[in-house]
Amino acid sequence: MQNIDGENKMPDDLNKCVEFHGHICPGLIYGYRVAKEAMKLMNLSRSVDEEVVAICENDSCAVDALQVLLGTVVGKGNLIINNFGKNAFTVLSRSQRQAYRFSRNTRYDYKGKAKSEFDRLEAVVAAGNASEDDRRNLKRLKVNDLLARPFEEIFTTTEMPFDEPFYAPLAPSEPCGICGEMTMASKMMKLNDGRQVCIPCSKKSMK
Ligand SMILES: [Zn+2]
Ligand SMILES: [Zn+2]
Repeated sequence: MQNIDGENKMPDDLNKCVEFHGHICPGLIYGYRVAKEAMKLMNLSRSVDEEVVAICENDSCAVDALQVLLGTVVGKGNLIINNFGKNAFTVLSRSQRQAYRFSRNTRYDYKGKAKSEFDRLEAVVAAGNASEDDRRNLKRLKVNDLLARPFEEIFTTTEMPFDEPFYAPLAPSEPCGICGEMTMASKMMKLNDGRQVCIPCSKKSMK
């Protein structure tokens, strides 16, 4: 356990997210709250294989909390990034045959106790006069506020029709016809002379 601000203790699962992500920030808290809500709604535990899938409509800090808590990670193929720049996430459970989409409600508005301090810090940051401490304090107020608020004040939850995504393809690798490096066959390109080559070699051969 580690202090966020001297009075609040950071939960262990959040601590793990911070260790993975590198820093604590409002973006990570968005992902932390979404992951916890999905786990509660569908009774999920961390995905060992591909039983939980996350579809993220952004590639922000939030995604890292989903990777840590839900086990929806880039290397297993159960993390799909459709980067529409939207603060929205769909989490689905293959075993429950359920899916939920969580989308951020509105522009962020501070609801904590230190409203006047928050407004002052935001004004200094907006004016470009903020010190390192000001930035850190503003972040800290946001983080604590986002952790304390009822989930439905931050995100709208919608149950989605369960539409099972494909499992990650297991394609055999073949040597590239030019560089010889082993490459997933499904990712290779065919040249006019019939050689199967990797994408970088196909680009070079087009020049
Ligand atoms: Zn971050
Ligand atoms: Zn090649």
